[in-house]
Amino acid sequence: MTHVGVVGAGVMGAGVAQNLAHSGHTVALVDTSPDAVKQALSTVETNCRMSRLLGGPEIDADEVLKRIEAGTELSLLTDAEIVIENITENWELKRSLYQEMDPLVRPDAVFVANTSAIPITRLASLTGRPRQFVGVHFMNPVPMKPAVELIPGHHTSPEALEAVRELLTSMGKKAIPVNDACGFVSNRVLMLTVNEAACLVYENVATAETVDEVFRSCFGHPMGPLETADLIGVDTILYSIEVLYEHFADSKYRPCPLLKKMTDAGLHGRKSGEGFYTYGPTGATTPARP
Ligand code: NAD
Repeated sequence: MTHVGVVGAGVMGAGVAQNLAHSGHTVALVDTSPDAVKQALSTVETNCRMSRLLGGPEIDADEVLKRIEAGTELSLLTDAEIVIENITENWELKRSLYQEMDPLVRPDAVFVANTSAIPITRLASLTGRPRQFVGVHFMNPVPMKPAVELIPGHHTSPEALEAVRELLTSMGKKAIPVNDACGFVSNRVLMLTVNEAACLVYENVATAETVDEVFRSCFGHPMGPLETADLIGVDTILYSIEVLYEHFADSKYRPCPLLKKMTDAGLHGRKSGEGFYTYGPTGATTPARP
């Protein structure tokens, strides 16, 4: 059993905390927003109670919640052996968090960055412990996804990598190792696809439903790219494609203006109730057009 710090209690942080606590680990969950902390605990509770209905295992929600201590103070992380960072995909936010967290957590603790695109070596350089720094690209929804990308930074030690691999195994995750590069493997491809799908809607070539239907019906994909965008978070898609655009200085990653407009309008997808589709309280979806 490991005591794990989870920073960022949004879509990913809530899922990581739930998966860890369900696997028997104790969790310190921290977010700057008290609302996000409250929402994350409520999401964990609902997910645990619904697990059986959705074809998953029977989960004792009280047992899971008992293992999660949550709040807004970074001091909750001082005893953590591993700290998994899941905050907004923004370099400046991540930079100031790592610089604030580094002196607070145990010197032997390992940092794990759960980022969509930012290179792990770049994030590790913000800390005084680049050997104890590992990238894990979790998939969403975390408790239901069987695999992750595991990314060592340039200086990551074999010991740190092994400690993280063991934690992932205990969470039921298969770790697929990939080398450090902006966007890793998955998002180098997925973000371009989603961005181009948004451009098709922006240019009135097809509606979001039609774009998604082509991918579902013609290619047999379980979800279309714009349903996927809503699941990931339209804002997170925009921030990730911006990271790729800036990193490679390549126009092929130019963000679709529709993603910017939707992010500004608060149409962030499932988490805000509206994105390319709208989401009712029962989970029913209907088409939306920004
Ligand atoms: P989100 O917007 O749902 O949540 C981000 C949370 O971080 C918010 O609750 C915010 O209040 C909090 N936060 C911001 N600054 C903070 C700080 N300094 N300290 C503590 N908390 C802070 O985003 P998300 O979808 O959970 O994504 C989190 C990270 O995981 C991002 O880097 C994203 O790229 C990555 N990621 C996302 C997905 C996905 O499908 N959404 C998948 C893999 C990786």
